Amino acid sequence: MANSRFEYVREFEVHDTLLPQTYIVVRIDGKSFHQFSKYYEFDKPNDEAALKLMNSCAKNVVLKYSSDIIMAFGESDEYSFILKKECVLYQRRKDKLSTLFATLFTANYVALWPKFFPDKSLHYKHLPCFDARCISYPNLQTIKDYLCWRFVDTHINNLYNTAFWNLVIKCGLTTQQAEQKLCGTLSSDKHEILFSECGVNYNNEQEMFKKGSLITSKGEILHVDVVKKIDELFDGY
Ligand code: ATP
Ligand code: ATP
Ligand code: MG
Ligand code: MG
Ligand code: MG
Ligand code: MG
Repeated sequence: MANSRFEYVREFEVHDTLLPQTYIVVRIDGKSFHQFSKYYEFDKPNDEAALKLMNSCAKNVVLKYSSDIIMAFGESDEYSFILKKECVLYQRRKDKLSTLFATLFTANYVALWPKFFPDKSLHYKHLPCFDARCISYPNLQTIKDYLCWRFVDTHINNLYNTAFWNLVIKCGLTTQQAEQKLCGTLSSDKHEILFSECGVNYNNEQEMFKKGSLITSKGEILHVDVVKKIDELFDGY
């Protein structure tokens, strides 16, 4: 490789490297998906095809890097990829890892879109974009707590959104009225409102909606109670 007098500018490049021997989470999240889901008329609160598309993209990412990945967990427009503490992909460089996961996921999302939405083509002014961040967790307890955090978040958000959209769609409340009605309510209140006012038994909602999706390193997609199974899920890591 020829050296030029301009070569020195390379020295300005600094690389953020994640600490060795720590679990790495790469979390991707859709950019402005509130707006994106409106434009493509996703079902509310949960568009099944959109979630299955997210799962397919994540599965392809997991399978491509299966020797570095422990598992992945997704809900809504986000996915967390949990990497082994021994992972040395890109020498653990933060910028390389986040851009690789975000672009690989996005490329899959665009390529697989027609399979899940055969009647809606992507408009060039409304293309999907995903951001990504990398976080390193120093021990097994913190990485377990990370996964439990995303799982519990899925449950809380889904219960709220299910109650909210049923009040709007089935009971005819305005979005403002629904918001007011749910303000300050406990989980048990939301179950009760859904049951007695909307005729919906939350327990009968789809497992994928209530529990999110967990993808094993072999590419198996599961909808399980992550908090209950947390020790089993990390067995051997
Ligand atoms: P940001 O760019 O900051 O992430 P955002 O609009 O994407 O903004 P999020 O907090 O990531 O905000 O929320 C994603 C939103 O996308 C949800 O609140 C929901 O409105 C919508 N959404 C994502 N997936 C689905 C789905 N499968 N069905 C229906 N709506 C969805
Ligand atoms: P890395 O993942 O480390 O970037 P790489 O294979 O992408 O590996 P680069 O140094 O980025 O390596 O080089 C890109 C290579 O892609 C070029 O060396 C060339 O072989 C090929 N390439 C890129 N663009 C073109 C093009 N327009 N026409 C032909 N070959 C191309
Ligand atoms: Mg966000
Ligand atoms: Mg988002
Ligand atoms: Mg999100
Ligand atoms: Mg290259």
